[in-house]
Amino acid sequence: MHVLHVTSELHPFSKTGGLADMVGALAKALAHSGTQISVLTPLYRVARQRATDLRSLNWRFEIRIGARNYEGAFWEQRGLAGERILFVQQDELYDRPGIYEENKQPYPDNDLRFVFLSRAAALLARHLNPAPSVVHCHDWQTGLVPLLIHHEREAGVWPFAPRTVLTIHNLAYLGYFPASTWALTGLPLDYFHPEACEFWAGVSLLKTGLVFADALTTVSPHYAVEITTPEYGCGLEGILMRRRSDLRGILNGVDYSEWNTISNPYLSAGYDASNFSGKAACKAVVQGEYGLPQRADVPLFGTVGRLDPQKGVDFMVGALEQVLQEDIQFVQLGTGVAWLENACRALAHRHPGKVGVRIGFDPALAHRIEAGLDFFLMPSRFEPCGLNQLYSLRYGTPPIVRDTGGLHDSVVDPRDDPGGATGIKFQDPSSSALAHAMRKALAVWAEPELLAHFRRNGMAADFSWNRFTTQYVELYGSLLGRG
Ligand code: ADP
Repeated sequence: MHVLHVTSELHPFSKTGGLADMVGALAKALAHSGTQISVLTPLYRVARQRATDLRSLNWRFEIRIGARNYEGAFWEQRGLAGERILFVQQDELYDRPGIYEENKQPYPDNDLRFVFLSRAAALLARHLNPAPSVVHCHDWQTGLVPLLIHHEREAGVWPFAPRTVLTIHNLAYLGYFPASTWALTGLPLDYFHPEACEFWAGVSLLKTGLVFADALTTVSPHYAVEITTPEYGCGLEGILMRRRSDLRGILNGVDYSEWNTISNPYLSAGYDASNFSGKAACKAVVQGEYGLPQRADVPLFGTVGRLDPQKGVDFMVGALEQVLQEDIQFVQLGTGVAWLENACRALAHRHPGKVGVRIGFDPALAHRIEAGLDFFLMPSRFEPCGLNQLYSLRYGTPPIVRDTGGLHDSVVDPRDDPGGATGIKFQDPSSSALAHAMRKALAVWAEPELLAHFRRNGMAADFSWNRFTTQYVELYGSLLGRG
């Protein structure tokens, strides 16, 4: 079985969030387990800098989009587990400073950029040797691929076309564009109606994938149920409800060869569940980096992530205003929408010596924070899977999470299982509910044995990819059995 993944970001070549981590780690784990894996992703400027061993496939092609021909070329590099990483080069579209945006403005031709990626993927899938039996797409940027393949199969020009899977990493990003975008797809207008690709008089590339992929997955079992409801369905709950027998939730795993506390080049001291002295050293490092007093006796809360209303940053700031009355510290690393960046800066301004804020994207600092914190805050309004809570569990940092999506599936609250508790869950997306949860964390902090119990449980929890890859292999197998 040969599976071709198509993704708009891929760790370690390009990353804005969990999508990159997930596809990079899943491809590696599947390759380890014996599945033949290729991954196609754009040759962005940053990817070209990070790919150290690029080889040309001597494969140039042209795609007619609108009134123009766009030339492209494929490049290749081997991944760590032998997976084949294929890059599509199109410098006009991808050789830019950003992946999706610059100066907080999305590129105005993102529809063209990802229609091109999707059309290049269909072309690659059709002519690649050996041919893939499954094409696995991720999020709206590749949502057109299942339809492109379906169309050629139905037209009889690609009789042994591969089966298609679409994974929803975040339903809120619909890939929504004006109706004029349809012309870029090169497909007939027959598909442009509300039962297929049309959405509110425009085009949703995500919906296109939801309608035409042979199978759908999302990144946690709980989110798979949530997105069939109006509250979480972003207007697509109808189609998801209709396709619920084709939709499954498979939790994301963690690449523990990178996210671990024992041999990690980003950490100044290693530690494991039998001895937390290295963790205490990591805490002092983070306090020092943020210019906070290097006190071991004060609980250090913090978070890493996109500053977006999805992540509950607005009511988190409100909760902190309440709990900062106590003797606590808080550090934050993230970048995102301007009003939330400003809210975080203002919080630091109001609480000098207690709050540290870093607006930016810094993977090495993210590791140090995960290790140095006493409690990780993840108050998301919705969370398809979430990776940071999985990382903080492994780093012995109990997460405080809203009980939603993948957070529901991965964190154990003491009310549900006192013996197996790994973190604290709360329900309402409100400052008072989060402040209440943080006060519970302070009660845990006051009992060192209880805190150690949470930490040890979290570090022992297994979210390695081996646990989840078999579910993907089974899914691929079931599609191929369909004939
Ligand atoms: P999402 O994909 O919704 O942004 P996840 O928790 O699934 O959220 O994944 C986020 C990933 O991006 C994690 O690997 C996290 O460490 C990383 N990340 C997010 N913001 C930053 C940042 N400012 N600096 C470094 N890494 C970040």
